[in-house]
Amino acid sequence: MDVKMTKNQVTDALRNVVEQIEYKPIDLSDTAAKLRTKFTNLHGLRLVATLVPDDLAIHVADEVFDRIIKLAPREKVRIGFGGGKVLEVAMRLLARRLAEAYRNEEPNLPRNPVFGGLLAGTNPKPYEGANAGLRFFLEHDELKDRVHYEIIPAPPIVRRKHHRELRENVHGIAKLFTHEQPQGAPEEVFDIVVTSCGAFCGHSFLEGLYGDPEQKDDLARITGAKDFIGDLMWHPMSSKGHLELDLDFLPVTRLHVNHLRKMVSSGKHVILVAGRCRKCREFKHPIIKTASRMGFVNVVITDVLTGSNLLESISPR
Ligand SMILES: [Zn+2]
Repeated sequence: MDVKMTKNQVTDALRNVVEQIEYKPIDLSDTAAKLRTKFTNLHGLRLVATLVPDDLAIHVADEVFDRIIKLAPREKVRIGFGGGKVLEVAMRLLARRLAEAYRNEEPNLPRNPVFGGLLAGTNPKPYEGANAGLRFFLEHDELKDRVHYEIIPAPPIVRRKHHRELRENVHGIAKLFTHEQPQGAPEEVFDIVVTSCGAFCGHSFLEGLYGDPEQKDDLARITGAKDFIGDLMWHPMSSKGHLELDLDFLPVTRLHVNHLRKMVSSGKHVILVAGRCRKCREFKHPIIKTASRMGFVNVVITDVLTGSNLLESISPR
């Protein structure tokens, strides 16, 4: 049989075979129970038995919906979403679930939920890129007049000097960032935050943000930094927390990772979603370990293989 395949298709096929071999049934409840004893500061942990990154989205939607219901009845519940494909799918599912709940007049629904993008768009069109998922909330009649949403109308990465200007002066952005606004300090704006993270390979964060030749020195500073383990909400991280680097370009995000820590310490819900790298399948357990241990997040949703690696990384055989 003459089968023509591109190089990429061959690589994908081999990867799938390797993953089938690699995947052996793991006792989910046992791994989760052990992890819970090691990460006592987490008040939510979901291990999903899947090799498909998008499967995490179902659990993200369930987790966020449950937490919205816990916070209601309130006039407003404010939910911030980071970027990435899994979170985009999760927003689609959550929008459907919320619409169904309002249609059926289920109890304990917030009157006016607010959804906010945490990262600036990666595309000049506001309906594409990191905030694309927010539009799903406008596609349901039950949600149209009820749900409010906020995006950051800015490029995703700007020079340090413009970053400050952007935060302080630009209409709309200033309102989102200014501490004196009625919304309060950044860490007080959201009740629930859902953030993604990137692995050490840097495929999501470095390729997406620092791909311009002008930014090659910054890229070298990040990849060359001692103990770089990946990113949390576009902020480079080491195993000790946020990596403070002297970069010329900074990503435009609505919250700094250090705001997440303040949210966690004041009992808000910070959910970390960490599947494997979509491109090279790199695991993200080092980021989960740091983010959980150091109090940047208090809920983790990941796949079972990552969970198993996480357990192994803290209790080596
Ligand atoms: Zn990768």
